[in-house]
Amino acid sequence: MEPVHIIGAGLAGSEAAWQIARAGVPVILHEMRPAKGTFAHKTGNCAEMVCSNSFRSDDDMMNAVGQLHWEMRTAGGLIMAMADRHKLPAGGALAVDREAFSAAVTETLQAEPLIRIVPGEITDLPQDGNWIVATGPLTSDALAQAIRAVTGTDALAFFDAIAPIVHADTIDMSVAWEQSRYDKGETEAEQRAYINCPMTREQYEAFIDALLAAEKTEFHEGETAGYFDGCLPIEVMAERGRETLRHGPMKPVGLTNAHKPDEKAYAVVQLRRDNAMGTLYNIVGFQTKMKYGAQTQVFRMIPGLENASFARLGGIHRNSFLNSPTLLDDRMRLRQRPNLRFAGQVTGVEGYVESAAMGLLAGRMAAAQAQGRDLPPPAPTTAMGALVHHITGGAEARTFQPMNVNFGLFPPLDEARSGRKGRKDRYPAYTQRAKDDFSAWLATQ
Ligand SMILES: Cc1cc2nc3c(=O)[nH]c(=O)nc-3n(C[C@H](O)[C@H](O)[C@H](O)COP(=O)(O)OP(=O)(O)OC[C@H]3O[C@@H](n4cnc5c(N)ncnc54)[C@H](O)[C@@H]3O)c2cc1C
Repeated sequence: MEPVHIIGAGLAGSEAAWQIARAGVPVILHEMRPAKGTFAHKTGNCAEMVCSNSFRSDDDMMNAVGQLHWEMRTAGGLIMAMADRHKLPAGGALAVDREAFSAAVTETLQAEPLIRIVPGEITDLPQDGNWIVATGPLTSDALAQAIRAVTGTDALAFFDAIAPIVHADTIDMSVAWEQSRYDKGETEAEQRAYINCPMTREQYEAFIDALLAAEKTEFHEGETAGYFDGCLPIEVMAERGRETLRHGPMKPVGLTNAHKPDEKAYAVVQLRRDNAMGTLYNIVGFQTKMKYGAQTQVFRMIPGLENASFARLGGIHRNSFLNSPTLLDDRMRLRQRPNLRFAGQVTGVEGYVESAAMGLLAGRMAAAQAQGRDLPPPAPTTAMGALVHHITGGAEARTFQPMNVNFGLFPPLDEARSGRKGRKDRYPAYTQRAKDDFSAWLATQ
């Protein structure tokens, strides 16, 4: 049988290789480390965790990432098995001994007769065969150029610029209102596409003070601050002048407060729909390097967001990722070159667990293809399905930025849609539905 080739033995590539071999299909796993390193990796091991040693919450009832753990364990995932074997005490989180973890992943892959690990950088995109590209946020320059040659330069970003994302049902609509600037748009939906949060002068001044005082994170060593003026962090804009934001992303023009039509806001924060379901909104232009704790405090100063719950907080990082909603089909294949599947962080998911989950899925799909079968993704009601559905179509392509798994990506329950159930009831209902649907998907294979 023709082998599946995988480029990159990180979290995604390692999991993909394991899944393919488990299905009885041979794998060739290409890895450039240790001969060619990155600024973040320190070893030549597979599945190296480059920063924190946490796989986050392990609660599969109340937490979406915990539910993703459950799905990966149920599908016989290598990353979860090795994380469980090398876990450290960390309360409800799954933290691991990172060196023992990646050594164990490496040894397990090396011992698997169907997997051959081939050292060396791949610098071009193969024209045929069955390939998975899992080269991560630090994809080598040569391969990144090769990807850009196929996809177009704008379709592979080198930095993310993540604005915070808010769960829509936690925005106080007695303060905020829906309206596009100057009521632009052909349809009523377009004219009401944004949610607006008004600020008085006092509120604006206090907000700027808080932004300037907030603790910020630095770029990692070796990670150049090569971001462009178009995506400057809001705190850097504030440093350039107290009025800069009021003339930029917070300009109040073309908007009328639906609750107080006679009152002119001094500044307005706008939120834009982030997914087709309308469950998530991003704060427009609010990419930031503020620390997470500071972000929650500062953003809850915005009128209407006092009780906001954040699906993800903002950030700017060196991160190679595709504009997957336009480039990938729902089998994670590049539309222009279907012999190439993508997996891991390069597809625009964010985090160890999400990347490994996309490796698991791409691996199973590639193995099915090698065996002459077609494997559709799991239902969007599962954590894995919600993620892949988001990156391959549910997300807004124009403003696409990397995404963590969260309940905002799950199709609402009927009760949740009507707002009758609180989170305490809703989350277990989401995870129970996910477990049922994921088990049904596995049973088809
Ligand atoms: C500085 C930094 C800090 C991070 N901190 C965290 C964190 O704390 N928590 C978290 O959840 N996530 C973190 N991330 C994100 C993290 O990188 C991903 O969650 C995860 O590692 C992605 O898995 P992956 O398999 O897609 O990529 P990786 O794990 O990076 O694996 C990609 C692999 O491809 C190899 N490769 C690249 N190009 C080529 C090529 N041309 N030929 C052959 N091999 C190649 C690389 O050497 C690497 O082994 C961080 C990322 C960075 C850059």
